Amino acid sequence: CGVVGVVGNPKATDILVQGLEKLQYRGYDSAGIFVETADQQTHLVKTTGSINDLQKKLTAADQGSTGIGHTRWATHGGVTVENAHPQYSDDERFYLVHNGVIENFQELKDQYLQGVSFKSQTDTEVVVQLVDKFVTIDHLSTTDAFFKVISLLKDSSYAMVMMDRKDPTALYVAKNKSPLLIGRGTDCNVICSDSIAMLDVTHQFVEIEDGDVCVVKADQLQIYDSKRQLVTRREFTVNVDP
Ligand code: GLU
Repeated sequence: CGVVGVVGNPKATDILVQGLEKLQYRGYDSAGIFVETADQQTHLVKTTGSINDLQKKLTAADQGSTGIGHTRWATHGGVTVENAHPQYSDDERFYLVHNGVIENFQELKDQYLQGVSFKSQTDTEVVVQLVDKFVTIDHLSTTDAFFKVISLLKDSSYAMVMMDRKDPTALYVAKNKSPLLIGRGTDCNVICSDSIAMLDVTHQFVEIEDGDVCVVKADQLQIYDSKRQLVTRREFTVNVDP
């Protein structure tokens, strides 16, 4: 399983799909991407099966400049297109890819999301529906809602990347007990489970730590630790050819 993200590159769709191809060695049963153009055209493509099956579903029109991608290894919910990621909120505003397990998803659903209609059987959908609730009902900013939801996840493992279709200039990233790196490109930034996925874009990576939450833009990277203090993390160069 793997996650990828790209912010601020007109070739985002190609970069995501090539990145997912490179992550296939991690194992998976389904795959998907969500991309958005600078003028807010969006494309969601998901499939069970292989990256090759995903490519067959993509058309030349499925271009974007910011996007997220996922290979899923099902833990909660069967292998279906609905359970493939990206998962999205009821109002189709927030899109999320996630590797790992949200251990307290049922408690969160019972406590905060009574009456919300769920489209999947995944633990992941609870996270994106909760962000939406805190933004649309409680009027938090997207960043504050994301922080709040992450703080509610108990004993969970996650490498996740979220998009807000109202603002395709930012990606929201969180990591705990699952691998995740930020890659620094020229005029764009990328996110990946393993640097091998993004070596065509950059060799420069930042290692984020467990509990960190990041807001990633094309020309900016903000990393907050688990106490929500801005921090800097180790940057390193990967010296191998793609
Ligand atoms: N727990 C999530 C699901 O079953 C993510 C699985 C994964 O790591 O790919 O959908």
